[in-house]
Amino acid sequence: MHITSRLPNVGTTIFTIMSGLANQHSAINLGQGFPDYQMSEALINKVNEVMRKGWNQYVPMQGYMPLRESIAEKVDFLYGANVSPNTQVTITPGGTYAIYTALTTILQPGDEVIVFEPAYDSYIPNIEINGAVPVLISLKFPDYKIDWEDVRKKISPKTKAIIINSPHNPTGSVLSEKDMDELRSVVRNTNIFIVSDEVYEHLIYDNIPHQSILRYPDLLERSFVCFSFGKTYNCTGWKLGYCISSSELMVEFRKVHQFNCFSCHTPSQVALADFLKNKNEYLSLAGIMQKKRDYFFRLMKQTKFDLLPSHGSYFVCARYSRISNEGDKDFAIRITKEYGIASIPVSAFYKSGTDNNVLRFCFCKKNETLDAAVERLAIIL
Ligand code: PMP
Ligand code: GLN
Repeated sequence: MHITSRLPNVGTTIFTIMSGLANQHSAINLGQGFPDYQMSEALINKVNEVMRKGWNQYVPMQGYMPLRESIAEKVDFLYGANVSPNTQVTITPGGTYAIYTALTTILQPGDEVIVFEPAYDSYIPNIEINGAVPVLISLKFPDYKIDWEDVRKKISPKTKAIIINSPHNPTGSVLSEKDMDELRSVVRNTNIFIVSDEVYEHLIYDNIPHQSILRYPDLLERSFVCFSFGKTYNCTGWKLGYCISSSELMVEFRKVHQFNCFSCHTPSQVALADFLKNKNEYLSLAGIMQKKRDYFFRLMKQTKFDLLPSHGSYFVCARYSRISNEGDKDFAIRITKEYGIASIPVSAFYKSGTDNNVLRFCFCKKNETLDAAVERLAIIL
């Protein structure tokens, strides 16, 4: 049978490749972003409890209503956002799915979408599978900031959407209030949509406030804002998240969602509806993860890697120019095989393949994992 590929330019994701290599070589995996410690015991117990009580059949397509209500309360508390749980919140099987659904909802063949590179690896295939065209803008190396003049130059009559992601994967850069002002001025009086990937909303450090789209009612009107419970509750394998949008946009989003997934895993939604009310669970996360970031930064001083700043996410980028001038993919593969440390080469997040000789390390690991990893990194000379 012959199949004409919908994604002819796509191979296997870098996460799959590097995690596979890590397993094959019994390497310590600081590549793919996931905690190597247990999630909340209380939340595990809650899911078990609701399953036993019988919460095992479909919930409504939009999501379990008490969970949507808890989300609406939460975003009011955090961002002063007034959103209707009925018409503006939809539960999705993860953040990646929410982004895909948002793009599929708005894109027509030939539309252009502005993407900042390095970019999380699903964005460009999500655009291309819809027949649309990614318009790439590089974040300024090495602090990975947006050059808004560049954005103004790349806007065309075909621009349908801009994708933003803060805190940013893979670089840990975050958008400031000034960036949000620039974004507002760029889209004002246009029909440009925004897809905002905010899965790391609670993983933001150094007392920087998260600039959610939800703080800006004028932006929310044109936005799909995507979140993930996996990041907030240390359960990336749960693949549960949500999208918030305007009521008008959400009608169309749900048309796509209802024939793709229909409804998401019931017991986790019922458990989370209650669990979300415990503010300390999500408010304490930044402090915990900031300690891990700082611990990793201190340890890495023993190595010849030069870490770039990271103000959010699970990740930090590191230059290795004092060690080698190999391309980042070759270097990442070599140190996995020879030293037993898996990372992610940042060029994998550039369609152009831009290679600044930088690796991404994930620091949401037990201290002993970080200790053991840095012991290995320290002997790479
Ligand atoms: N966006 C970014 C930037 C991410 O790093 C991730 C993590 N995989 C996601 C979206 C997706 O989250 P989920 O696992 O809930 O699909
Ligand atoms: N978000 C995670 C990362 O960036 C992994 C996602 C995936 O495996 N697709 O590492």
